[in-house]
Amino acid sequence: MHETAVAESILHTIIAQADKANAKPVSAIISCGQFNTLNDECMQFAFEAAAAGTVCEKTKLVIKHIPLRAKCEQCQTVFEFDVYKPACGQCESKEFDFEPDAPLLLETIEFEG
Ligand SMILES: [Zn+2]
Repeated sequence: MHETAVAESILHTIIAQADKANAKPVSAIISCGQFNTLNDECMQFAFEAAAAGTVCEKTKLVIKHIPLRAKCEQCQTVFEFDVYKPACGQCESKEFDFEPDAPLLLETIEFEG
């Protein structure tokens, strides 16, 4: 399962940072795009399972989903792509290019104290 691998890799990073900071991680924020998206429930479950017995046992995981953006070829507006309304929000043109999808990223770790 994709989420298990991601959870383990994120956990590794958080533990390494916690070691360096010599503090308990309270929460961690990760973000992901739309092509390589994470299932919130699976991710929370996988993270909890992986974190059991580690310094991250009580760490709260927050998952942010970054929408896919597209740039209009007519008016150059960058808009959030909506699969139900695939057109520029400004001029309603259907000619646009997708911007690169957001990567899977560990954004912030918050430590105790
Ligand atoms: Zn436009």
